[in-house]
Amino acid sequence: MPRILITGAAGFLGSHLCDRFIKEGFRVIGMDNLLTGSLDNIEHLFPLKEFEYYHHDVSKFVHVSGELDYILHFASPASPIDYLKMPIQTLKVGALGTHNLLGLALAKNARILVASTSEVYGDPLVHPQTEEYWGNVNPVGPRGVYDEAKRFLEAITMAYHNAHQVETRIIRIFNTYGPRMRVNDGRVLPAFFSQAIRGEGLTVFGDGSQTRSFCYVDDLVEGIYRLLMSDCSQPVNIGNPDEISIKEFGEEVLALVGNPDAKLTYKELPVDDPKVRRPDITKAREILGWEPKISRAEGLKRTYEYFKEVVKTD
Ligand code: UDP
Repeated sequence: MPRILITGAAGFLGSHLCDRFIKEGFRVIGMDNLLTGSLDNIEHLFPLKEFEYYHHDVSKFVHVSGELDYILHFASPASPIDYLKMPIQTLKVGALGTHNLLGLALAKNARILVASTSEVYGDPLVHPQTEEYWGNVNPVGPRGVYDEAKRFLEAITMAYHNAHQVETRIIRIFNTYGPRMRVNDGRVLPAFFSQAIRGEGLTVFGDGSQTRSFCYVDDLVEGIYRLLMSDCSQPVNIGNPDEISIKEFGEEVLALVGNPDAKLTYKELPVDDPKVRRPDITKAREILGWEPKISRAEGLKRTYEYFKEVVKTD
């Protein structure tokens, strides 16, 4: 049985990855320091003998005893309000954490896949974004701590590949959603769902004309699995190219939840908020034979079932 280390295991994406790799017959070590993750997301795995949990901050030296075949580095604050609140931790986990895990991959002769982001494209001047685009990032703006940490993550990962022949994979993840997102993580989907369920105003930032493209978590996990098993060491975009404005997205959530007390309200647009975002997934299609299968209508329905359970209405 192959053995895989997943960092950020108690987070939204990390926990879904633990589930998937257990299902694929791997022994999984989940690592987290619970800065933004929650054990609720993985408590169902604790009884399994294939699953081990290490409480650890990967910004500090990472020790794993025994053999290790694969590493997935998914530890990081990932929502804009989180990385605004935790700018130093965000920089450290992207930079020092990635360095530690690449060192571990080298020592164990393990293949490593690191989570990068569409944020490396910043407020993009090329649309849709292809992997060849270098981006438009403000290094000293509020998002700089995340964007530059992830750009450093890509650079050091490529350096370990070139200098030490470590088998590396880099995924650029676009907006992803689904069950286990934190209700209060500040991102648009948990915000809109919880506000719609409680009958509050949906906080549309700016005039809501900015666009995003939302990928359902199961599609993303399939893309990650395929990329890990591929031989592609160049960055690959994984996301759903179905683009929508934030205002229209709010209207879709309102229609789905159907709470007559909820409506759109408008708030100031945050600094450096990207105006457009849509992945060009030609490369994923060609190299991985991957494309998203779950429509936004279906994904939102499934996600609504989750938020109905976890949003407190009193
Ligand atoms: N947004 C919004 N209302 C909210 C939260 C976010 O209108 O309560 C907007 C935000 O300004 C951005 C988009 O929704 O344009 C997506 O924001 P999110 O924080 O989910 O992720 P981002 O794609 O900006 O990293």
